[in-house]
Amino acid sequence: MLYIVLVLVLAALGLLVTALMTASSLWAWVSIGLSVLAGLLLVADWLRRRRRSAAPAAAQALPARAEPEALPASGAAMPEPEEEQTTLIPATGDLGDPADAPEPADASAEAETTADSDPGVEETPEEDVAVLADLEDEVVVVDEHPRYHLRTCTWLGTRDTIPIGVGEARQLGFTPCDVCRPDATLVAAHR
Ligand SMILES: [Zn+2]
Repeated sequence: MLYIVLVLVLAALGLLVTALMTASSLWAWVSIGLSVLAGLLLVADWLRRRRRSAAPAAAQALPARAEPEALPASGAAMPEPEEEQTTLIPATGDLGDPADAPEPADASAEAETTADSDPGVEETPEEDVAVLADLEDEVVVVDEHPRYHLRTCTWLGTRDTIPIGVGEARQLGFTPCDVCRPDATLVAAHR
């Protein structure tokens, strides 16, 4: 529909140029007629879209497009196509971009949390904490990560580990990893 309006407006523009070149007012009147027709088509199109409960973006764009119809004078024929294009292109762009953007963003965010974030903290019973404080069994920590792990922990992967006594690790403020559960394992081994 809007393409038809564009063609009509361009035709009106062409006729207007013809009218100026031939100094014939007949072509100017035909040009005005085509402009009015284009305006009526725009109104019809606008009403049709509004009935379909248009999106807010479309609702904002439409009043701007409807205005030039009120001025179908020969001088107004020229700006019409330009205004239509500037309002139409961003509108479709706005609709397209947000739909594309969120999916890769979510995917990368998930990938980051699984790759970089630390595992949860193992919950250690009070009596086990007292036992662990005196143990010198070796656990491993990774620089700049708050958990200590068993050597066999799957979270460690290829990270560089630093061996440390479990009691010392706790003293330094490290917390037990919820994946390999070193506290439960070491306390069980100690008993
Ligand atoms: Zn672990």
